Amino acid sequence: MELRAVKGMNDILPDEAVRWQRLEAAFREHVRLHGYDEVRTPILESTALFQRQIGETTDVVEKEMYSFERHGDALTVRPEGTAGAARAYVEHKVHAKEPVSRWYYLGPMFRGERPAKGRYRQFYQAGCEVYGDPGPLADAEMIEMVASLLARLGIPEVEVRVNSLGASGTRERYRNALLGHFTPMRDKLSEDSQRRLEKNPLRILDSKDPRDREAAATAPSILELLDETDSAHFEGVKKHLDALGVRYVVDPTLVRGLDYYTRTLFELRTTTGDLGSQNTLVGGGRYDNMIEGLGGPKVPAIGFAMGIERLLVMMGGDEKRESPFCYVAPLSEELASRALVLGRDLRRLGVRVEVDGRGGKLKAMLRRADALGAKLCVILGEGEIERGVVAVKDLAKHEQEEIALADAAKVLAERAAKLSEGGDARGAR
Ligand code: ATP
Ligand code: MG
Repeated sequence: MELRAVKGMNDILPDEAVRWQRLEAAFREHVRLHGYDEVRTPILESTALFQRQIGETTDVVEKEMYSFERHGDALTVRPEGTAGAARAYVEHKVHAKEPVSRWYYLGPMFRGERPAKGRYRQFYQAGCEVYGDPGPLADAEMIEMVASLLARLGIPEVEVRVNSLGASGTRERYRNALLGHFTPMRDKLSEDSQRRLEKNPLRILDSKDPRDREAAATAPSILELLDETDSAHFEGVKKHLDALGVRYVVDPTLVRGLDYYTRTLFELRTTTGDLGSQNTLVGGGRYDNMIEGLGGPKVPAIGFAMGIERLLVMMGGDEKRESPFCYVAPLSEELASRALVLGRDLRRLGVRVEVDGRGGKLKAMLRRADALGAKLCVILGEGEIERGVVAVKDLAKHEQEEIALADAAKVLAERAAKLSEGGDARGAR
C-alpha cells in the first residue's frame, strides 16, 4: 500500500515554507507594534470546551471536529484558537494580573470539511484576542490592524464587512424575527437549515447553500433590533473606522459560523474571485460572554482569525530558499576534517555554509556549488593546504584567488558581511 498524506492535509516543503515564514514574520511584527504577545495552547482540548463555546448547532461542532476518546477523556483536536485561549486565560486567572491582555497565536487547526482550494482539513490560522477592553475603540483598532496587515502583505481587493449582533437579548428577539421569516418558506431551505430552523435560525444566514442564500436575501435586519447601548457601540465602531480611513460595508446578514459572538462582527474578504467561495480571509468578532461562561469573571473580549493558506494564495511573491554563501569543497578524504573545521568557523561568524560530503572531482563539486547558488566555492586541495592557503572561486565572476588558510574564515565572513550591507548576501537558489 502506498502511504500518502491524509486527505485535506498538506506538506509544506522548504521551497514553499519560505513564503510562510515571510507571512508569519510580517504578522508577528505587525501585531507586536499593537502590543500583542504570543500565547501557545495545546492542540488537544476537552471536547466539551468546543461544544459549549462554539455551539452545538454550528457546522464545526455538528460535523467538522476530530474527536476521540483516550484514557477515558473525550478529546478534540482544536478546530479554532479562541476557545482554547479563553480557557487558558480563565485557568491562569490572567484577569487578576493585568486589566487588559493582548494575545496572538499561530498554528494548525483541524476541521473535517470537504477539501477545496483554500479549504483543508489541517489548515493554519493566525489570530489575536484582546481581553478586558469593552470597545468600541478596541474593535475599530483591531479591524484597522487586520486591514493594514493585509495591505502590508500586498493582498489586493479586500473588502471589510461589519455587523453587530447586539447582546444576548437582541439575539433572542432576532431569533424570533427570523423564525417568522423562514418558517413559511421552510420547504425551500436546505435540509440542514430545515433541521436547524427552530434551534438556531441564525445559522441559515451563514449557509453557503444557494437555496438558503435566496431565502436569506429578504430576511429582516438585526440592526433594527439593536437596543440603544448596542446601537451606540456599533456607531462608535463605525465612527472610529471612518476616522482611521478604513472603508467598510455594513452587512446585516453577516453572522459568522460560531455561536459565541456578541456585538461587533467583521470579515475581510477578497473580491478577486481567485478563491471561489473560500473568499473569506479573516473572520472575527466580540465575544463578551465567553470568559464568564468558562467560569471566569465578566471580562469582555474580541478576536479574529485569519487563514494562512488563503492569504498565501492572494499574496503572490516568488521568494526562493536561501543559498549558502560558501560551499566548501575538500578535494580528498584526508581534507574532509579541515573542511568541516572551516565550515564550523565560518558559521560561528554568521555565514551560511555547506560542506561537500559527497567527494569526487573538483568539477563535480563546483557544479554542486553552482546549483545551490553559492557565491563562493572554497576549494581545499593537498597542494594548497601544504602551502597554507585555500583557493576561493567566485562562481558568478568566474575568478579564482588564493587566501591564507589561517584567516580564511575571517576574510570570507567579512566579504559576506560586506555583501549583505549591499543587501545581496542572501542569494537565492
Ligand atoms: P468559511 O466560511 O470559509 O468556512 P469560517 O467561517 O468557517 O470560514 P472561521 O472559523 O471564522 O472561518 O475561521 C477564520 C478563517 O480561517 C477563515 O476566514 C479562513 O480564512 C480560515 N479557514 C477556516 N476554515 C478553513 C479551512 N477548512 N481551510 C483553510 N482555511 C480555513
Ligand atoms: Mg467553515
